[in-house]
Amino acid sequence: MISIDGSIGEGGGQVLRTAVSLSLVTGQTIRISNIRQGRKNPGLQAQHLAAVRIATEISEAEVIGAELNSKTLLFSPKKVTPGKYHCQIKTAGSTSLALQTVYLPLSFCEKSSRLSISGGTHAAFAPSFDFLSLHWAYYLNSIGFKVALGLEQAGFFPQGGGLIDAQLSPAGSIRELDLIEPGPLKQIRGISAIANLDRTIAERQRQRVIHRLGNKYRLNDIRIRELPSNYKGTTLCLVCEFENSQCCYFSLGARGKPAEKVADEVCDQIEYLMSTNAALDEYIADQLLLPLAFGKNTSVFSTAKITRHLITNAEIIQIFTPARIKISGDINQPGTVSIKPQ
Ligand code: AMP
Repeated sequence: MISIDGSIGEGGGQVLRTAVSLSLVTGQTIRISNIRQGRKNPGLQAQHLAAVRIATEISEAEVIGAELNSKTLLFSPKKVTPGKYHCQIKTAGSTSLALQTVYLPLSFCEKSSRLSISGGTHAAFAPSFDFLSLHWAYYLNSIGFKVALGLEQAGFFPQGGGLIDAQLSPAGSIRELDLIEPGPLKQIRGISAIANLDRTIAERQRQRVIHRLGNKYRLNDIRIRELPSNYKGTTLCLVCEFENSQCCYFSLGARGKPAEKVADEVCDQIEYLMSTNAALDEYIADQLLLPLAFGKNTSVFSTAKITRHLITNAEIIQIFTPARIKISGDINQPGTVSIKPQ
């Protein structure tokens, strides 16, 4: 059994998700204590419980402590079985994070799986559906995974009520990434979207991007979308396409938050990114660590920021696998990462 102190590093939900994911892949029993000790509302919340529930279902795991606010979890999986699964998050908890907990073990099965997950598709502090489909799935598929995603219904904070669909076919052998230099910027594209609100809000978000970035970078194909949803919401998601890599940032609207501010949040992050000459944004950097630890060869990449999430994930991965991860740079500054699978 592997014992993990959930308060290490970032001390958030990621310790739990990465550990559960690796427990499923390696078949090792885990005991996690001090779950989300670093957060204001420590312990398992609806979103984490949903991730544990789906992980339990796909592996018929024996589980102790899977309750709201629980700070300790014992998780003992059996064999992962591919199939059709549904996971319901009753809050606006992130559907993306639930998917990220189980995609790896399911992708390593010999047959395909189909997952539908209801909850928040556009939530703060988690990848939005657009980030997931335009960026995360792009990189996963480019290294050998076979992930296809669909958005049936958008679910915004605070109500949630969204629905995503993920088709996971068996992964081939996992290729390495060699992304130190992004190369010249080719274009910035993306989505400015609303649900059950006036279309002009999405147009104002796009207009502000043109005002902020239009005379510096090539903007192309920023699409206005009206998302199906039971509730109201807005989002902006931009992908910076470089010769060798891509980076992605998004933001969300909220009651009383002007469309221009939504756009400014993304533009500020892009301006920062451009000042770093990094190949990857700081979010995809921590999310790619896990799949790259299963690559055939060593991966290297530069990232816009060394984050606590990145360091924490590296720590957990090295507890479970023979992978060796080297992170160079200071916290919250640009840096480089190398992942040697064994
Ligand atoms: P935790 O805070 O431990 O629950 O982990 C949050 C996860 O969501 C990490 O993998 C982050 O990279 C990811 N994440 C948080 N904010 C964003 C964002 N703005 N864009 C993309 N991913 C994000």
